[in-house]
Amino acid sequence: MKTLKSILTATFAVLALSSAAFALPPGKGGPEITTKAQFAELKGGDKVTLVCKMCDSHTVVDIKDTASAMKLCEEGSKIHCPTCKKDYKVTWGNPKSGGPTTTMTIVDENGKPCMAYIKAS
Ligand SMILES: [Zn+2]
Repeated sequence: MKTLKSILTATFAVLALSSAAFALPPGKGGPEITTKAQFAELKGGDKVTLVCKMCDSHTVVDIKDTASAMKLCEEGSKIHCPTCKKDYKVTWGNPKSGGPTTTMTIVDENGKPCMAYIKAS
């Protein structure tokens, strides 16, 4: 009986571990980076995750320095998604009013938000 009990305990421990692993999808990290101030806080050695909401792919981007981080969010920058095989565009314009906004959006050719940068932890 004693042996059976320890086998059961071990089985439960394994089950608990594997469910914990499933609860953490890869690439899901911190909050989305959408403002100039957030990009300006990035420095060399930081990592951000580029998430494509169209194909659910995650690409880790190494930040070389603050200047290269600012380049990521430049108005009109093209971001290529190798999975969608499409280029998406960085925009600071409000798709509804057409006016400028304080948050960056990455949109597809129809102006639909499709990608986001997330601070990698
Ligand atoms: Zn994609």
